[in-house]
Amino acid sequence: MNIAVVGTGYVGLVSGACFAEFGTRVTCVDVDESKIAALARGEVPIYEPGLDAMVRRNAAAGRLHFTTDLARAVRENLVIFVAVGTPQDPHGRADLTSVMSVAAQIAEHIDGSKVVVIKSTVPVGTGDRVEAAIRERTGGDVPFSVVSNPEFLREGAAIEDFQRPDRVVIGVEDEQSAAILGDLYRPLYLIETPILRVRRRTAELIKYAANAFLAVKISYINGMADLCEAVGVDVHDVARGIGLDRRIGPKFLHPGPGFGGSCFPKDTRAILATAAENDVPLEIVAAAVRINEARPARMVEKVRAALGGELAGRTVALLGLAFKPNTDDVRESPALAIAQALEEAGCDVRAFDPAALGTARAAGFAGTAAADEYDACSGAYALVIATEWNQFRNLDLTRIRELLRQPVVVDLRSVCKPAEMAARGFRYTAVGR
Ligand code: NAD
Repeated sequence: MNIAVVGTGYVGLVSGACFAEFGTRVTCVDVDESKIAALARGEVPIYEPGLDAMVRRNAAAGRLHFTTDLARAVRENLVIFVAVGTPQDPHGRADLTSVMSVAAQIAEHIDGSKVVVIKSTVPVGTGDRVEAAIRERTGGDVPFSVVSNPEFLREGAAIEDFQRPDRVVIGVEDEQSAAILGDLYRPLYLIETPILRVRRRTAELIKYAANAFLAVKISYINGMADLCEAVGVDVHDVARGIGLDRRIGPKFLHPGPGFGGSCFPKDTRAILATAAENDVPLEIVAAAVRINEARPARMVEKVRAALGGELAGRTVALLGLAFKPNTDDVRESPALAIAQALEEAGCDVRAFDPAALGTARAAGFAGTAAADEYDACSGAYALVIATEWNQFRNLDLTRIRELLRQPVVVDLRSVCKPAEMAARGFRYTAVGR
Protein backbone atom coordinates (compact mmCIF):
# COMPACT_ATOMS: atom_id res chain seq x y z
CA MET A 1 0.00 0.00 0.00
CA ASN A 2 1.14 3.56 -0.69
CA ILE A 3 0.70 6.16 2.00
CA ALA A 4 1.61 9.81 2.44
CA VAL A 5 2.40 11.39 5.81
CA VAL A 6 1.94 15.16 5.82
CA GLY A 7 4.03 16.91 8.47
CA THR A 8 7.51 15.53 9.03
CA GLY A 9 8.05 16.43 12.69
CA TYR A 10 8.47 14.07 15.62
CA VAL A 11 5.21 12.25 14.96
CA GLY A 12 5.15 12.37 11.16
CA LEU A 13 8.75 11.31 10.64
CA VAL A 14 8.65 8.53 13.21
CA SER A 15 5.30 7.26 11.87
CA GLY A 16 6.54 7.44 8.28
CA ALA A 17 9.78 5.63 9.06
CA CYS A 18 8.02 2.97 11.13
CA PHE A 19 5.34 2.33 8.48
CA ALA A 20 8.17 2.00 5.93
CA GLU A 21 9.85 -0.47 8.28
CA PHE A 22 6.59 -2.47 8.20
CA GLY A 23 7.04 -2.69 4.41
CA THR A 24 4.68 0.12 3.34
CA ARG A 25 5.77 2.63 0.69
CA VAL A 26 5.73 6.02 2.41
CA THR A 27 6.02 9.56 1.08
CA CYS A 28 6.72 12.13 3.80
CA VAL A 29 5.57 15.65 2.95
CA ASP A 30 6.42 18.93 4.64
CA VAL A 31 6.18 22.64 3.85
CA ASP A 32 9.64 23.16 5.31
CA GLU A 33 11.93 22.93 2.28
CA SER A 34 15.16 22.85 4.26
CA LYS A 35 13.84 19.96 6.38
CA ILE A 36 12.86 17.97 3.29
CA ALA A 37 16.21 18.72 1.61
CA ALA A 38 18.08 17.53 4.71
CA LEU A 39 16.01 14.35 4.92
CA ALA A 40 16.57 13.66 1.22
CA ARG A 41 20.32 13.84 1.97
CA GLY A 42 19.84 11.32 4.78
CA GLU A 43 20.12 13.90 7.58
CA VAL A 44 17.50 13.59 10.31
CA PRO A 45 16.77 17.06 11.71
CA ILE A 46 15.56 15.91 15.15
CA TYR A 47 17.22 13.93 17.90
CA GLU A 48 15.36 10.67 18.41
CA PRO A 49 17.23 7.45 19.33
CA GLY A 50 17.36 4.98 16.43
CA LEU A 51 15.59 7.24 13.94
CA ASP A 52 18.65 8.12 11.79
CA ALA A 53 19.41 4.52 10.98
CA MET A 54 15.78 3.65 10.34
CA VAL A 55 15.28 6.60 7.98
CA ARG A 56 18.46 5.84 6.04
CA ARG A 57 17.72 2.11 5.83
CA ASN A 58 14.20 2.60 4.45
CA ALA A 59 15.18 5.43 2.13
CA ALA A 60 17.94 3.23 0.68
CA ALA A 61 15.43 0.39 0.23
CA GLY A 62 13.17 2.75 -1.77
CA ARG A 63 10.31 2.62 0.74
CA LEU A 64 10.69 6.11 2.22
CA HIS A 65 10.56 9.31 0.16
CA PHE A 66 10.58 13.00 1.00
CA THR A 67 8.89 15.84 -0.85
CA THR A 68 7.27 19.24 -0.52
CA ASP A 69 4.84 18.39 -3.32
CA LEU A 70 1.59 17.73 -1.43
CA ALA A 71 -0.53 17.82 -4.61
CA ARG A 72 1.38 14.90 -6.08
CA ALA A 73 1.42 13.02 -2.79
CA VAL A 74 -2.39 13.34 -2.65
CA ARG A 75 -2.78 12.02 -6.17
CA GLU A 76 -0.36 9.11 -5.76
CA ASN A 77 -1.38 7.71 -2.37
CA LEU A 78 -4.51 5.98 -1.16
CA VAL A 79 -4.03 6.93 2.50
CA ILE A 80 -2.97 10.40 3.61
CA PHE A 81 -1.93 10.79 7.22
CA VAL A 82 -2.03 14.30 8.65
CA ALA A 83 0.63 14.78 11.33
CA VAL A 84 1.14 18.55 11.28
CA GLY A 85 1.51 20.60 14.45
CA THR A 86 -1.51 21.74 16.46
CA PRO A 87 0.09 24.30 18.79
CA GLN A 88 -1.74 26.37 21.34
CA ASP A 89 -3.49 29.50 20.06
CA PRO A 90 -3.57 32.72 22.14
CA HIS A 91 -6.80 31.54 23.85
CA GLY A 92 -5.37 28.18 24.93
CA ARG A 93 -7.23 26.27 22.20
CA ALA A 94 -5.61 23.98 19.63
CA ASP A 95 -4.59 26.04 16.61
CA LEU A 96 -5.94 24.10 13.63
CA THR A 97 -4.51 26.38 10.92
CA SER A 98 -2.08 23.75 9.60
CA VAL A 99 -4.62 20.91 9.76
CA MET A 100 -7.26 22.93 7.89
CA SER A 101 -4.69 24.17 5.37
CA VAL A 102 -3.70 20.55 4.61
CA ALA A 103 -7.42 19.65 4.37
CA ALA A 104 -7.93 22.47 1.84
CA GLN A 105 -5.00 21.25 -0.25
CA ILE A 106 -6.25 17.66 -0.14
CA ALA A 107 -9.67 18.94 -1.29
CA GLU A 108 -7.95 20.80 -4.12
CA HIS A 109 -6.05 17.81 -5.46
CA ILE A 110 -8.14 14.78 -4.57
CA ASP A 111 -8.90 12.83 -7.75
CA GLY A 112 -10.00 9.39 -6.57
CA SER A 113 -10.88 7.35 -3.51
CA LYS A 114 -8.83 8.48 -0.47
CA VAL A 115 -8.65 7.87 3.25
CA VAL A 116 -7.53 10.96 5.21
CA VAL A 117 -6.20 9.93 8.62
CA ILE A 118 -5.76 12.63 11.25
CA LYS A 119 -2.87 11.71 13.51
CA SER A 120 -2.35 15.20 14.90
CA THR A 121 -3.93 15.79 18.31
CA VAL A 122 -7.14 17.66 17.49
CA PRO A 123 -10.28 18.65 19.44
CA VAL A 124 -13.49 16.66 19.17
CA GLY A 125 -15.26 17.49 15.93
CA THR A 126 -12.14 18.34 13.89
CA GLY A 127 -12.66 15.24 11.73
CA ASP A 128 -16.17 16.52 11.00
CA ARG A 129 -14.71 19.91 9.99
CA VAL A 130 -12.07 18.33 7.75
CA GLU A 131 -14.72 16.14 6.12
CA ALA A 132 -16.99 19.13 5.53
CA ALA A 133 -14.11 21.18 4.06
CA ILE A 134 -13.22 18.45 1.57
CA ARG A 135 -16.88 17.74 0.70
CA GLU A 136 -17.58 21.42 0.15
CA ARG A 137 -14.88 21.53 -2.51
CA THR A 138 -15.50 18.15 -4.16
CA GLY A 139 -19.29 18.38 -3.97
CA GLY A 140 -19.62 14.67 -3.27
CA ASP A 141 -18.08 13.66 -6.63
CA VAL A 142 -15.03 11.92 -5.14
CA PRO A 143 -15.30 9.16 -2.54
CA PHE A 144 -13.22 9.79 0.57
CA SER A 145 -13.37 9.28 4.29
CA VAL A 146 -11.79 10.95 7.30
CA VAL A 147 -10.42 8.79 10.11
CA SER A 148 -8.99 9.71 13.52
CA ASN A 149 -5.90 7.78 14.59
CA PRO A 150 -4.34 9.69 17.50
CA GLU A 151 -0.71 9.06 18.29
CA PHE A 152 0.51 8.16 21.79
CA LEU A 153 4.28 7.87 21.23
CA ARG A 154 6.68 9.56 23.64
CA GLU A 155 9.65 11.54 22.37
CA GLY A 156 12.86 9.79 23.33
CA ALA A 157 11.21 6.37 23.04
CA ALA A 158 9.20 7.12 19.92
CA ILE A 159 10.24 4.16 17.77
CA GLU A 160 9.66 1.60 20.50
CA ASP A 161 6.33 3.25 21.32
CA PHE A 162 5.23 3.20 17.69
CA GLN A 163 6.29 -0.39 17.13
CA ARG A 164 5.03 -1.73 20.47
CA PRO A 165 2.21 0.55 21.57
CA ASP A 166 -0.13 -0.23 24.47
CA ARG A 167 -2.96 0.16 21.96
CA VAL A 168 -3.87 1.65 18.61
CA VAL A 169 -7.01 3.78 18.55
CA ILE A 170 -8.87 4.03 15.27
CA GLY A 171 -11.89 6.33 15.08
CA VAL A 172 -13.67 5.43 11.90
CA GLU A 173 -17.17 5.74 10.50
CA ASP A 174 -17.09 3.23 7.60
CA GLU A 175 -16.10 -0.41 7.10
CA GLN A 176 -13.82 0.11 4.11
CA SER A 177 -11.58 2.62 5.88
CA ALA A 178 -11.54 0.40 8.96
CA ALA A 179 -10.28 -2.48 6.78
CA ILE A 180 -7.58 -0.27 5.19
CA LEU A 181 -6.34 0.94 8.58
CA GLY A 182 -6.48 -2.65 9.85
CA ASP A 183 -4.24 -3.65 6.96
CA LEU A 184 -1.73 -0.87 7.66
CA TYR A 185 -1.50 -1.82 11.33
CA ARG A 186 -1.44 -5.57 10.63
CA PRO A 187 2.16 -5.98 11.92
CA LEU A 188 0.95 -4.67 15.30
CA TYR A 189 -2.16 -6.84 15.23
CA LEU A 190 0.18 -9.83 14.73
CA ILE A 191 2.01 -9.03 17.97
CA GLU A 192 -1.37 -8.84 19.72
CA THR A 193 -1.51 -5.08 20.18
CA PRO A 194 -5.05 -4.13 21.20
CA ILE A 195 -6.58 -2.26 18.27
CA LEU A 196 -9.51 -0.25 19.52
CA ARG A 197 -12.11 0.71 16.96
CA VAL A 198 -14.37 3.55 18.04
CA ARG A 199 -16.34 6.43 16.50
CA ARG A 200 -14.24 9.26 15.14
CA ARG A 201 -15.20 11.83 17.80
CA THR A 202 -14.48 9.27 20.53
CA ALA A 203 -10.96 8.69 19.21
CA GLU A 204 -10.34 12.44 19.18
CA LEU A 205 -11.37 12.71 22.83
CA ILE A 206 -9.45 9.59 23.95
CA LYS A 207 -6.18 11.33 23.11
CA TYR A 208 -6.96 14.41 25.23
CA ALA A 209 -8.46 12.33 28.04
CA ALA A 210 -5.26 10.24 28.19
CA ASN A 211 -2.91 13.21 28.28
CA ALA A 212 -5.05 15.10 30.79
CA PHE A 213 -5.15 12.05 33.08
CA LEU A 214 -1.36 11.70 32.99
CA ALA A 215 -0.96 15.42 33.66
CA VAL A 216 -3.29 15.12 36.66
CA LYS A 217 -1.20 12.21 37.96
CA ILE A 218 2.00 14.28 37.73
CA SER A 219 0.45 17.31 39.43
CA TYR A 220 -1.05 15.04 42.07
CA ILE A 221 2.33 13.62 43.09
CA ASN A 222 3.89 17.10 42.92
CA GLY A 223 1.22 18.35 45.32
CA MET A 224 1.97 15.36 47.58
CA ALA A 225 5.68 16.23 47.34
CA ASP A 226 4.94 19.69 48.73
CA LEU A 227 2.93 18.14 51.56
CA CYS A 228 5.73 15.64 52.25
CA GLU A 229 8.25 18.47 52.55
CA ALA A 230 5.97 20.20 55.06
CA VAL A 231 5.40 17.12 57.23
CA GLY A 232 8.84 15.49 56.97
CA VAL A 233 7.93 12.46 54.85
CA ASP A 234 9.75 11.16 51.74
CA VAL A 235 7.40 11.39 48.76
CA HIS A 236 9.27 8.55 47.03
CA ASP A 237 8.17 6.17 49.76
CA VAL A 238 4.63 7.49 49.42
CA ALA A 239 4.76 7.08 45.62
CA ARG A 240 5.98 3.51 45.98
CA GLY A 241 3.38 2.79 48.63
CA ILE A 242 0.53 3.96 46.45
CA GLY A 243 2.00 2.86 43.10
CA LEU A 244 2.13 -0.81 44.11
CA ASP A 245 -1.66 -0.65 44.23
CA ARG A 246 -2.55 -1.90 40.76
CA ARG A 247 -5.55 0.42 40.63
CA ILE A 248 -3.05 3.32 40.81
CA GLY A 249 0.09 1.96 39.12
CA PRO A 250 3.69 3.15 39.60
CA LYS A 251 4.10 5.25 36.46
CA PHE A 252 3.89 9.05 36.35
CA LEU A 253 4.38 9.29 40.10
CA HIS A 254 7.80 10.95 39.93
CA PRO A 255 7.89 14.28 41.73
CA GLY A 256 9.80 17.10 40.09
CA PRO A 257 9.66 20.47 38.39
CA GLY A 258 6.41 19.70 36.55
CA PHE A 259 5.37 18.47 33.13
CA GLY A 260 6.45 20.15 29.93
CA GLY A 261 7.04 19.33 26.31
CA SER A 262 5.02 19.86 23.20
CA CYS A 263 1.97 17.90 24.37
CA PHE A 264 0.82 17.95 28.02
CA PRO A 265 0.79 21.73 28.53
CA LYS A 266 -1.05 22.52 25.30
CA ASP A 267 -3.31 19.47 25.41
CA THR A 268 -4.49 20.15 28.97
CA ARG A 269 -5.27 23.76 28.04
CA ALA A 270 -7.03 22.63 24.85
CA ILE A 271 -9.28 20.13 26.66
CA LEU A 272 -10.10 22.87 29.17
CA ALA A 273 -11.05 25.12 26.25
CA THR A 274 -13.30 22.39 24.82
CA ALA A 275 -14.83 21.87 28.27
CA ALA A 276 -15.43 25.62 28.71
CA GLU A 277 -17.07 25.87 25.26
CA ASN A 278 -19.44 23.15 26.43
CA ASP A 279 -20.01 24.65 29.90
CA VAL A 280 -18.27 21.76 31.65
CA PRO A 281 -15.87 22.95 34.36
CA LEU A 282 -13.41 19.96 34.36
CA GLU A 283 -11.93 21.39 37.56
CA ILE A 284 -9.53 18.52 38.16
CA VAL A 285 -7.64 19.29 34.94
CA ALA A 286 -7.72 23.02 35.69
CA ALA A 287 -6.11 22.32 39.08
CA ALA A 288 -3.42 20.15 37.48
CA VAL A 289 -2.56 22.99 35.10
CA ARG A 290 -2.45 25.58 37.91
CA ILE A 291 -0.20 23.38 40.05
CA ASN A 292 2.08 22.78 37.10
CA GLU A 293 2.36 26.42 36.13
CA ALA A 294 3.54 27.24 39.67
CA ARG A 295 6.25 24.53 39.65
CA PRO A 296 9.22 26.32 38.02
CA ALA A 297 8.96 29.31 40.39
CA ARG A 298 8.80 26.92 43.34
CA MET A 299 11.96 25.17 42.08
CA VAL A 300 13.75 28.51 41.75
CA GLU A 301 12.86 29.21 45.40
CA LYS A 302 14.48 25.90 46.32
CA VAL A 303 17.67 27.02 44.59
CA ARG A 304 17.48 30.40 46.32
CA ALA A 305 17.07 28.72 49.71
CA ALA A 306 19.97 26.35 48.98
CA LEU A 307 22.14 29.38 48.20
CA GLY A 308 21.29 31.03 51.51
CA GLY A 309 18.67 33.39 50.02
CA GLU A 310 20.91 35.07 47.42
CA LEU A 311 20.69 34.42 43.67
CA ALA A 312 22.05 37.65 42.18
CA GLY A 313 25.66 37.35 41.10
CA ARG A 314 25.81 33.61 41.76
CA THR A 315 27.01 31.13 39.15
CA VAL A 316 24.73 28.10 38.98
CA ALA A 317 25.50 24.87 37.13
CA LEU A 318 22.37 23.50 35.48
CA LEU A 319 22.28 19.94 34.15
CA GLY A 320 19.52 19.45 31.60
CA LEU A 321 17.52 21.84 29.44
CA ALA A 322 15.31 19.42 27.50
CA PHE A 323 11.85 18.81 28.94
CA LYS A 324 12.85 15.19 29.49
CA PRO A 325 15.82 12.90 28.73
CA ASN A 326 16.66 11.52 25.27
CA THR A 327 15.26 14.45 23.34
CA ASP A 328 16.41 17.86 22.16
CA ASP A 329 12.88 19.23 22.58
CA VAL A 330 12.71 22.26 24.88
CA ARG A 331 9.10 23.27 24.17
CA GLU A 332 7.56 24.28 27.53
CA SER A 333 10.53 22.64 29.24
CA PRO A 334 10.49 23.32 33.00
CA ALA A 335 14.31 23.07 32.94
CA LEU A 336 14.50 25.91 30.42
CA ALA A 337 11.94 27.96 32.40
CA ILE A 338 14.06 27.49 35.53
CA ALA A 339 17.25 28.46 33.65
CA GLN A 340 15.60 31.64 32.41
CA ALA A 341 14.10 32.50 35.82
CA LEU A 342 17.52 32.04 37.45
CA GLU A 343 19.06 34.36 34.87
CA GLU A 344 16.35 36.94 35.44
CA ALA A 345 17.15 36.75 39.15
CA GLY A 346 20.75 37.65 38.33
CA CYS A 347 22.41 34.22 38.22
CA ASP A 348 25.05 33.29 35.72
CA VAL A 349 23.73 29.92 34.48
CA ARG A 350 26.28 27.43 33.15
CA ALA A 351 24.13 24.77 31.49
CA PHE A 352 24.90 21.43 29.94
CA ASP A 353 22.51 19.15 28.08
CA PRO A 354 23.61 16.21 25.92
CA ALA A 355 21.22 17.15 23.09
CA ALA A 356 19.30 20.35 23.79
CA LEU A 357 21.89 23.14 24.02
CA GLY A 358 21.18 24.20 20.43
CA THR A 359 17.39 24.11 20.69
CA ALA A 360 17.56 25.90 24.06
CA ARG A 361 19.71 28.62 22.54
CA ALA A 362 17.21 29.01 19.69
CA ALA A 363 14.42 29.22 22.28
CA GLY A 364 16.14 32.11 24.06
CA PHE A 365 18.54 30.55 26.58
CA ALA A 366 21.17 33.24 27.05
CA GLY A 367 23.41 31.61 29.65
CA THR A 368 26.72 29.82 29.16
CA ALA A 369 26.72 26.54 27.22
CA ALA A 370 29.08 24.23 29.09
CA ALA A 371 31.09 21.52 27.34
CA ASP A 372 30.01 18.81 29.78
CA GLU A 373 28.72 18.20 33.31
CA TYR A 374 32.06 19.05 34.90
CA ASP A 375 32.66 22.18 32.86
CA ALA A 376 29.19 23.35 34.01
CA CYS A 377 30.16 22.87 37.68
CA SER A 378 33.45 24.70 37.40
CA GLY A 379 33.32 27.61 39.86
CA ALA A 380 29.55 27.32 40.45
CA TYR A 381 27.92 28.00 43.82
CA ALA A 382 25.39 25.21 43.28
CA LEU A 383 24.60 22.33 40.98
CA VAL A 384 20.97 22.05 39.88
CA ILE A 385 19.84 18.83 38.17
CA ALA A 386 16.82 19.69 36.03
CA THR A 387 16.50 16.81 33.52
CA GLU A 388 17.18 13.18 34.37
CA TRP A 389 19.49 12.15 31.52
CA ASN A 390 21.03 8.78 32.37
CA GLN A 391 24.53 10.20 32.28
CA PHE A 392 23.62 12.51 35.20
CA ARG A 393 22.87 9.47 37.34
CA ASN A 394 26.53 8.45 37.54
CA LEU A 395 28.33 11.70 38.11
CA ASP A 396 31.85 11.62 39.52
CA LEU A 397 30.85 13.21 42.82
CA THR A 398 34.44 13.62 44.02
CA ARG A 399 35.23 15.68 40.95
CA ILE A 400 31.96 17.65 41.23
CA ARG A 401 32.76 18.49 44.81
CA GLU A 402 36.21 19.78 43.85
CA LEU A 403 34.83 21.87 40.98
CA LEU A 404 31.96 23.51 42.87
CA ARG A 405 32.75 26.60 44.92
CA GLN A 406 30.56 25.18 47.69
CA PRO A 407 29.06 21.67 48.00
CA VAL A 408 25.44 22.55 47.19
CA VAL A 409 23.29 20.27 45.03
CA VAL A 410 19.61 20.86 44.20
CA ASP A 411 18.32 17.65 42.64
CA LEU A 412 14.95 18.36 41.02
CA ARG A 413 14.74 14.87 39.46
CA SER A 414 15.80 12.62 42.34
CA VAL A 415 18.77 11.16 40.48
CA CYS A 416 21.07 11.20 43.55
CA LYS A 417 20.88 9.13 46.70
CA PRO A 418 20.33 11.44 49.70
CA ALA A 419 22.37 9.28 52.10
CA GLU A 420 25.34 9.16 49.73
CA MET A 421 25.16 12.91 49.12
CA ALA A 422 25.15 13.55 52.87
CA ALA A 423 28.03 11.11 53.43
CA ARG A 424 30.09 12.95 50.81
CA GLY A 425 29.48 16.25 52.52
CA PHE A 426 27.05 17.82 50.06
CA ARG A 427 24.28 20.13 51.22
CA TYR A 428 21.62 18.30 49.26
CA THR A 429 18.07 19.42 48.47
CA ALA A 430 15.55 17.42 46.47
CA VAL A 431 11.82 17.51 45.77
CA GLY A 432 9.48 16.01 48.34
CA ARG A 433 12.08 14.48 50.63
P1 NAD B 1 6.33 19.12 14.92
O1 NAD B 1 6.19 20.57 15.13
O2 NAD B 1 7.57 18.41 15.33
O3 NAD B 1 6.11 18.80 13.36
C1 NAD B 1 5.07 19.33 12.61
C2 NAD B 1 5.54 19.39 11.16
O4 NAD B 1 4.43 19.78 10.34
C3 NAD B 1 6.64 20.41 10.90
O5 NAD B 1 7.72 19.78 10.26
C4 NAD B 1 5.98 21.46 10.02
O6 NAD B 1 6.88 22.04 9.09
C5 NAD B 1 4.93 20.63 9.32
N1 NAD B 1 3.82 21.41 8.76
C6 NAD B 1 3.15 22.43 9.33
N2 NAD B 1 2.20 22.88 8.49
C7 NAD B 1 2.25 22.10 7.39
C8 NAD B 1 1.52 22.06 6.17
N3 NAD B 1 0.52 22.90 5.95
N4 NAD B 1 1.84 21.12 5.27
C9 NAD B 1 2.86 20.24 5.50
N5 NAD B 1 3.60 20.25 6.63
C10 NAD B 1 3.29 21.15 7.56
O7 NAD B 1 5.04 18.47 15.60
P2 NAD B 1 4.94 17.04 16.32
O8 NAD B 1 5.56 17.10 17.67
O9 NAD B 1 5.35 15.98 15.37
O10 NAD B 1 3.35 16.97 16.55
C11 NAD B 1 2.46 16.77 15.48
C12 NAD B 1 1.09 16.46 16.07
O11 NAD B 1 1.15 15.23 16.80
C13 NAD B 1 0.57 17.49 17.06
O12 NAD B 1 -0.82 17.57 16.94
C14 NAD B 1 0.95 16.92 18.39
O13 NAD B 1 0.09 17.36 19.42
C15 NAD B 1 0.74 15.43 18.15
N6 NAD B 1 1.54 14.54 19.00
C16 NAD B 1 2.83 14.84 19.29
C17 NAD B 1 3.57 13.96 20.08
C18 NAD B 1 5.01 14.28 20.44
O14 NAD B 1 5.53 13.62 21.34
N7 NAD B 1 5.67 15.23 19.79
C19 NAD B 1 3.01 12.78 20.55
C20 NAD B 1 1.70 12.49 20.19
C21 NAD B 1 0.98 13.38 19.42
